[in-house]
Amino acid sequence: MNIPFASFEPMHKEIEDELLNKFKEVYKKNWFIQGEEVKKFEEEFAAFCDSKYCIGCGNGLDALYLILRSYGIGAGDEVIVPSNTYIATALAVSYTGAKPVFVESEPKIYNINPDLIENAITDKTRAIIAVHLYGQAADMDKINKIAKKYNLKVIEDSAQSHGALYKNRKAGSLGDASGFSFYPGKNLGALGDAGAVVTNDKELADKIRAIANYGSDKKYHHIYKGINSRLDEIQAAFLRIKLKNLDRWNEDRVRIARKYIEGINNPQIIKPIEADYAKHVWHLFVIRTKKRDNLQEYLKNKGIDTLIHYPIPMHLQQAYQDLNLKLGDFPIAEEISKEVLSLPIWYRMKDSEIEYVIDTINSFK
Ligand SMILES: *Cc1c(COP(=O)(O)O)cnc(C)c1O
Repeated sequence: MNIPFASFEPMHKEIEDELLNKFKEVYKKNWFIQGEEVKKFEEEFAAFCDSKYCIGCGNGLDALYLILRSYGIGAGDEVIVPSNTYIATALAVSYTGAKPVFVESEPKIYNINPDLIENAITDKTRAIIAVHLYGQAADMDKINKIAKKYNLKVIEDSAQSHGALYKNRKAGSLGDASGFSFYPGKNLGALGDAGAVVTNDKELADKIRAIANYGSDKKYHHIYKGINSRLDEIQAAFLRIKLKNLDRWNEDRVRIARKYIEGINNPQIIKPIEADYAKHVWHLFVIRTKKRDNLQEYLKNKGIDTLIHYPIPMHLQQAYQDLNLKLGDFPIAEEISKEVLSLPIWYRMKDSEIEYVIDTINSFK
């Protein structure tokens, strides 16, 4: 059996006619940037996130950058970022000129450890970026409480958590503003690059909308030195079709995750845990083992593709050499990076495929 790490096929087959008809419709309208589709998607996605405003943009990195920049964060400022994340979280901070200050992971949930955030706060700290990694929300009550005490902004990186819940509240509605990515492989993915900011802050929303569109609030009137980061009509149109199906598609990921959790019983494997406050949307199903590299090779030889999210924590990335951090600074994030392995999980994965992955993992010695 050959099991790819991810497959769009079953998802896209279901909506193929709708996507192709929509393409024709947008194509015939001859209006490709900032039109009706973007406007409607923004309304629908804001509602999906139980939030007031959504601003479409080019990708998830831009979404985070636009939030930070619109809060006036830049050179001389510091922003708290988890050490175990995708590099976009840290790069968004760097792009503003501010410094990312990394914080250790929580050892069981793999998100930022809220109990270690206060140690990292200085008089330069302006914001905390909480990443809802792998599809599970960070412990937002604790993070918001610290932010309130020190008067910091809380920014969610929800790129892996469309539809995830924290105490029955939606990811994207849990801080001051949230960045989403619609990279094709995310739970809600465009057919190309796309992203969005979600917030209840009207002033922030207006500023982001302007900065993302060359700093312009009116055609040829530029109030900021903005950038060009807009959501295309065609991607918004595709995203609207996918958004209607997202809850159902996320539920199918839950089905697969439950099967994995029930079935995997190899004592060498640590299975992922759903926090009691969380509804996990399983963007990734991440197991842990001391024999990670051997297991990955073993699975590869049995036709099962896996990936590592992520092999190098932020503080050890070459790109962040200038921060003079070293091996041993964040031992838990380092251990995670050596032990995690993401198993195949995608909409409509067959029971026989899931069982094959389970049996193969259980037979690993
Ligand atoms: C995918 C991702 C991003 C970046 O999104 P892009 O659309 O690729 O720019 C940011 N943060 C996390 C946690 C991600 O997984």
